[in-house]
Order: sequence, then C-alpha cells, then structure tokens
Amino acid sequence: MREEALHALFRNAFPKRRGLTGPGDDCATLRPPKGSLLVQSVDQLVEGVHLLPTAGPSAMARKLLRRSLSDLAAAGAKPWAVQWTVAAPTEKGGAWMRALMHAFLKEAKVWDVPVIGGDLSTAPHVVLTCTVMGLARKAPVGRGGARSGDSIWVTGKLGGAVESGRHRLPHPRLAEGRRLLEKYTPHAMMDLSDGLMADLPRILRASEVGATVYGESVPCNTKASLASAVAEGEDYELLVVLAPRQARRASSDALLQKVGWTEIGVIEKRKGLRWKLDGTLWKPQVKPWGHTW
Ligand SMILES: [Mg+2]
Repeated sequence: MREEALHALFRNAFPKRRGLTGPGDDCATLRPPKGSLLVQSVDQLVEGVHLLPTAGPSAMARKLLRRSLSDLAAAGAKPWAVQWTVAAPTEKGGAWMRALMHAFLKEAKVWDVPVIGGDLSTAPHVVLTCTVMGLARKAPVGRGGARSGDSIWVTGKLGGAVESGRHRLPHPRLAEGRRLLEKYTPHAMMDLSDGLMADLPRILRASEVGATVYGESVPCNTKASLASAVAEGEDYELLVVLAPRQARRASSDALLQKVGWTEIGVIEKRKGLRWKLDGTLWKPQVKPWGHTW
C-alpha cells in the first residue's frame, strides 16, 4: 500500500476541532482553551514484548491507544489529541497496514480523540508509539504528595489480566480519574500498568513515605489469586492516595462505586512497603512485573 494513500486516510478522518489543526502540514498546531493545562504522555508497543507476534494489527492498535489514554486518566485529563508512529516490516503487507490504520482511527473515534499526526517507517519488527495529549482543569497530582495517615484506594479489580486476555483491551478510567482530580484532590494518583507491587513503591519513593497494604482488602478478579492481583501488571486501574477527609467523601461516590472503589491500605511514615494478611505480616512470593536489562 502506498504511503500517500495512508496519509490521505488520516487527513480525511480528521474532524474539525477548535484549537487544533491536523495532519497534512509539517506540524500540527494546538491551542489549549484558556484555563486548561495541556498534559502529555508517550508510550510504545513492541511486538514480542507488549504483545505476542501472533496478535493481529487491530488488537495492537486498540491496545496502543487505550494504554496511553490510561496515563491521561491517571492525570485526571480529558483526551484532546493523539499522534502516533508505526514501524513495521514490509512483509506485513498492505492489508495488515490498512487494518492497523483503520483500527487506530476507529478506536480514536470511540474515545473522541482526533489523530493530529504521525509517522511511518519500515523496520525489522513492529514498533508502535503513541503520544496522547489531554486537557486538565487542575494540575495533575502526580506521585509525590502522599502523606502519613492517608489511605490507599484502587478502582476496579486486579489480577489475571494476561491469563484472561483482558490485557488486550484495557478500559482507561478516564471519567473516574477526572472525577477524582476535580472533586477529591488526591495526594497521589497513577495507573496500575506494572502491578501494585511495582507501582505503589513508585508513589512511596516519590513521596518519601512507606505503606501497609491489607491483602484481604485487595479486590481480585474472578479466578485471579491474591498473588497475581498484587504482582501482575496490565490492569490499568487507578491507584489513588487520599487524605482521610477526602477518602470519606469519595467513598460514597456513585461513579467510582460503579467500577469498584476499594480501600486497600494506609500510608505510613516508616519507609518501605509492608503487606498484611488477616493481621499477620505477609510476603507475596512473586516477582514484580516489569522489563529487565
Ligand atoms: Mg502510567
């Protein structure tokens, strides 16, 4: 398939949006509305690392965008625009490329986020990148604000994402992230891409605090063991630290309750992450998720 035809696909699909110009020029332009903060995140998806080589183009495109949107959810931002790049072997062929492009455009439409630009290349393996831009009404809270005495909450249920196949089509918690940021001002918020065991310590380190998590409180997916719920990645739920007063207010929020909203632990002065199960210390006998070099 000719590159020009692929470019045309994106030019034609670009919806008219205030403050945005789309593909077709050297640069896209973005003019955020007054009072909004532009937040941005870049992500990559590598064949054989994030998805098996047997995953089809449509699955790749959909997961790519959803993972990126999950980062916007953690910032409490509304998706505003997206750019992406595709590198793939020529052997994949035109039909593969078309399927990838159409799936990405379709998914962008589902989440109402215009594709403002991209780049194409041949490469020995498939490597996709995606940069999402979102608008936030307040400054995102990041990971560094957790304080001793705060409580730790998660949306949804954890564990078994890979085994069940849920990892292929995560559901970014966009509405929930915005609700949390705008109404309850969390002290820290992030999305769980690498699992509780790997992600919670990132908040603890950034905030220079410690925590105890209560295993019996961790909401597990059906068929997922507690070990997999704390150690496996790819859940794309939100991990949120709230001051006690805000936690009380948020505990009865209908939007949060609808997807599941559970208190799992407490932030403490003493550094490090401790696990308890039914009152006694517990050590998850699993390796945290992640890439190693
Ligand atoms: Mg993230």
